[in-house]
Amino acid sequence: LLSPDGAVASTVFAEMSALALRTGALNLGQGFPDVDGPSWVRRAAADAIAPDAERGANQYPPGPGIPALREAVAAHQARRYDLHLDPDTEVLVTTGATEAIAAALLALVGPGDDVVTLEPFYDSYAAGIALAGARHVTVPLVPGPEGFRLDADALRAAVTPRTRVILLNTPHNPTGAVLTRAELDAVAAVAREADAVVLTDEVYEHLTFDGVAHVPLATLPGMAERTLTVSSSGKTFSLTGWKIGWVTGPEPLVTAVRTVKQFLTYVSGAPFQPAVALALADDTYPRELAASLAARRDLLCEGLEAAGFGVVRPQGTYFVLADAAPLGFDDGTDLCRRLPELAGVVGVPVAAFCTPGSATERALRSWVRFTFVKREDVLRDAVRRLAALA
Ligand code: PMP
Ligand code: GLN
Repeated sequence: LLSPDGAVASTVFAEMSALALRTGALNLGQGFPDVDGPSWVRRAAADAIAPDAERGANQYPPGPGIPALREAVAAHQARRYDLHLDPDTEVLVTTGATEAIAAALLALVGPGDDVVTLEPFYDSYAAGIALAGARHVTVPLVPGPEGFRLDADALRAAVTPRTRVILLNTPHNPTGAVLTRAELDAVAAVAREADAVVLTDEVYEHLTFDGVAHVPLATLPGMAERTLTVSSSGKTFSLTGWKIGWVTGPEPLVTAVRTVKQFLTYVSGAPFQPAVALALADDTYPRELAASLAARRDLLCEGLEAAGFGVVRPQGTYFVLADAAPLGFDDGTDLCRRLPELAGVVGVPVAAFCTPGSATERALRSWVRFTFVKREDVLRDAVRRLAALA
């Protein structure tokens, strides 16, 4: 996790955001909205702090999360997915999805264990697996006419008796793929066969487009008992700085994560928890966000295509992957370093989501991730600028 000179290696998102700041380029790199989430939710957090009262929600909350938020998470899972959870034992509030994933990996795996993820993968997965001392095995998502799809044969080959955890992510960052029922069935079958736990990162659960439905892995037959599901308020409510997430699943697995969580952060953001509990009761904001994101996806995809990129249209998330090879750029990392100067735009190389030297990294070497969770005028400006590359 350290760079060769012993310094803490910064994440690619931090590096690219710094590059955008330094050059004044439009930041389509790091995935965060440039419009904050609903004001009534933000007001609820301000009310919880209660600056004018003697006391507010400003001291340590309960370790597993305040009861109102655990109940709201359970009610959300029941309402949307018919998944029924005990809020006292099967829901744990965490400091974002990031802590939920790290704590789950530290709780469940160690040296001698394999963790299987899709590739490309969200960057914190490789770090969490390394912190736990386990081995990281990947299964490629392959671009095609139906979007990025899971290679089911590679999945079957990757999962062995050494596999303790399959770490899934749908809707998927960075490809924007939403795993189909058939793909999820394949994951469930190999998990059952290997007696592996599935840790499934569903932070973009509300952000799917064109009527494509997100299917939580825990809803598949026989899977609730071996699945830990992770989500977060950051993406669903455009409040990425609040860092309130949660993990749900069977009591023994949630207890294991809770045991680790108490020594990582002990508890998570007291005044944000009642506000997120309120937000979770109403699906209006996430529904409208998904609709507006679908329109912004179209705008950016059409602009990237007009500029000459090869584009695979995402079915969900904040992100689109674009191949720069048709424009004559075969190295996405190099292109991203030069993109502020060439076009005044920042993106993230897909190589940053791959194991260095892997076949997937080679296959996606010329690809760049752009986010469309920016205001429409910003995206229009970006598209105009990117046209200069053609
Ligand atoms: N998982 C995925 C797939 C993500 O894209 C992100 C980043 N937004 C996270 C986890 C981290 O979420 P949080 O900010 O809630 O920790
Ligand atoms: N999830 C966001 C992304 O993929 C960034 C979060 C981060 O900076 N760690 O862009």
